[in-house]
Amino acid sequence: MTNLVWFREKDLRVADHGPLAEAGSGAVPVFLGPVPERLAPRLGDLAARLEGLGSGLAWLPGDPLEELPRLAARLGATAVLAHGFTEPAAQALEAHMARELPCPLRLFPGETLTGPLGRHRVFTAFHRTFQREARLEVPLAAPRRLAALPELPRWPAGPLLPDLLAPFLEDRLADYAQGRDRMDREGTSRLSADLHFGRVSAASCWAAASGRPGAEAWQRQLVWREFAHHLLREWPGVLEDPFQGAFRGFPWRSDPALFQAWVEGRTGYPIVDAAARQLLATGYVHNRARMVAASFLVKHLLVDYRLGEAHYLAHLQDADLANNSMGWQWSAGCGCDAQPWFRVFNPVLQGRRFDPDGAYVRAWVPELAALPSRAIHSPWEAGLPTGYPSPIVDHAFARERFLALAKEHLRRSSSGS
Ligand code: FAD
Repeated sequence: MTNLVWFREKDLRVADHGPLAEAGSGAVPVFLGPVPERLAPRLGDLAARLEGLGSGLAWLPGDPLEELPRLAARLGATAVLAHGFTEPAAQALEAHMARELPCPLRLFPGETLTGPLGRHRVFTAFHRTFQREARLEVPLAAPRRLAALPELPRWPAGPLLPDLLAPFLEDRLADYAQGRDRMDREGTSRLSADLHFGRVSAASCWAAASGRPGAEAWQRQLVWREFAHHLLREWPGVLEDPFQGAFRGFPWRSDPALFQAWVEGRTGYPIVDAAARQLLATGYVHNRARMVAASFLVKHLLVDYRLGEAHYLAHLQDADLANNSMGWQWSAGCGCDAQPWFRVFNPVLQGRRFDPDGAYVRAWVPELAALPSRAIHSPWEAGLPTGYPSPIVDHAFARERFLALAKEHLRRSSSGS
């Protein structure tokens, strides 16, 4: 009996992997299609783990639409086992495979902690329902042994990637609630890329944290991830349009020069510039800095949030359609939660509060490294250091301009004019 286990971009693990556990000794693990650069080391890690179990990772680089049905027919597969995913393109692929495969396609949950929980537009209501109704599965162990891989091209085993979960739980979970908003600290798990690519399952994270001091605050963030996937599942249109219909047709200015200054970290606002440069240098940005930088692009510069959303998708290591879309719409004020659209972050005050000594800014904006802490978030007050721009827009002016524009737009939307 041959069960093809179709690994996709978001389930690159051997533990808590429903399809692999179910396929048993007849499992033939396969990955299909071209491999983007940021995926290659993760596939190397997966291939090494599968080889450690006696198998390996078959890899067919051609078009999955054709490769999978052909492979299933060639091996006489009993079934194809795979995780089902939320993203619309992933679901379209699943529907195609279900039609074209010569054997049944069996889809498994595992991307999120739980299945649908009703249609919720607000996080707090979603969270309450989650706490009341979610039935969390115990994570599955990795198989002990797999059968040898048949004669197929393989993805080569690479070095094993480090485990980020255990050190986070040991060293930082207890202080997570206090430290998570501090941009100058390593207070968070840094697991977002591993969660996106499914190197570790959300259920494994949840179970490993449960019962430890500090777990609740961190698990709440896992529920935010759950909420983002819920939104995308229920309202896939959020990938194109603002969730709040009243924001459609918003008169964005989308000036390419302003957008470019934001992309390159030359706005003259240190926290915004640090976030931009951290992104380009590392593919990661602290959550608080993402919120401030996104709000600034949309509300201070009046650039369409979708340009920022696409830039983040192109550069983040953890780029994730569900989380990124929710994060951008939340920051822009047009998303699906209780966040009022008229809250405009002040980048100077955010910096002083969540990067009090300026260590985050110093790390990413070296022109400012020598400034004293009291001036690091408002360098114009200390006489601008050479090479650093003055603010691209005045905060008070930009705030009033956005509020007036949004108020007028929402008034027109509601009156239908
Ligand atoms: P931790 O604080 O350790 O949280 C644990 C996990 O919970 C994260 O790894 C992530 O999977 C999940 N999580 C935490 N915060 C959020 C959140 N606000 N929304 C959804 N899930 C969350 N996250 C992504 O994974 N991919 C993205 O493309 C992405 N784009 C974003 C864009 C904007 C504008 C904003 C404001 C947020 C975005 N986020 C995104 C959410 C958040 O910034 C990151 O998940 C977090 O910074 C990752 O760091 P961490 O793993 O140390 O998080």
